[in-house]
Amino acid sequence: MDALIDSHCHLNYDYAPKTVDELVREAAAVGVTTLVTIGTGLDTLGEIARISERFENVYHTVGVHPHEASTLAPGDVETLRQAARHPKCRAIGEIGLDYYYDHSPREVQRERLRLQLDLALELGLPVVVHGRDAEADLLEALTAYAAKVPASRSPGIIHCFSGTRGFGERCLTLGFSISFSGILTFKTAEELRACARAFPLERLLVETDSPYLAPVPHRGRKCEPHMVRFTAQKLADVKGLSLEEVARATTENARRIFRI
Ligand SMILES: [Zn+2]
Repeated sequence: MDALIDSHCHLNYDYAPKTVDELVREAAAVGVTTLVTIGTGLDTLGEIARISERFENVYHTVGVHPHEASTLAPGDVETLRQAARHPKCRAIGEIGLDYYYDHSPREVQRERLRLQLDLALELGLPVVVHGRDAEADLLEALTAYAAKVPASRSPGIIHCFSGTRGFGERCLTLGFSISFSGILTFKTAEELRACARAFPLERLLVETDSPYLAPVPHRGRKCEPHMVRFTAQKLADVKGLSLEEVARATTENARRIFRI
């Protein structure tokens, strides 16, 4: 089978008793040959870079999650800039807006999102976007950002897509790609599967967002990167394609965006 890429996982989180070495090895054993471990905060920049350095087939991103937006002082952008210059850092993320949890005040979230979108533009990197219950404000920020991204490259990825179809279509128009997580396999996710059916395959990726959101048949367990194949298989079923076709397309898409 063609290789799969888990475009979004968190290898620095706790998988005990499993080690990161085991996670990477078990993923490779089922054809998940490349993993992108995603940054969420200033406090884990070093930890994530070290994981990415240790494995040839693991890359990483640098960014502050909207939950942590309050921890990012404007003066910290220089720290992010230095970290993002790491040769295996391939994107700024995850960044965005989360009005569901509201862990940081909304205006702080918007401001820190803008700071990090500007950093991505400056460094010529794509972004990995997290959004929840904030579609209008997110579209406003992403539209302004995408207008400044050269047509020759992707503005980035809408990760763990679970939004409305209209939002997804607007993001596609802006040039973004869309990544589906294990939610795609959940029994109640009919609307999401309708989106997956409608969106163009050449703009789709798959991810685990591990350790969260384990796909069926592992739902309820701790999610691990090897499980991305169940999401890819569901995407294939939904689109009436073979797993090989979905693997080839999503891998090509991830390679192009992350320059892997
Ligand atoms: Zn994530």
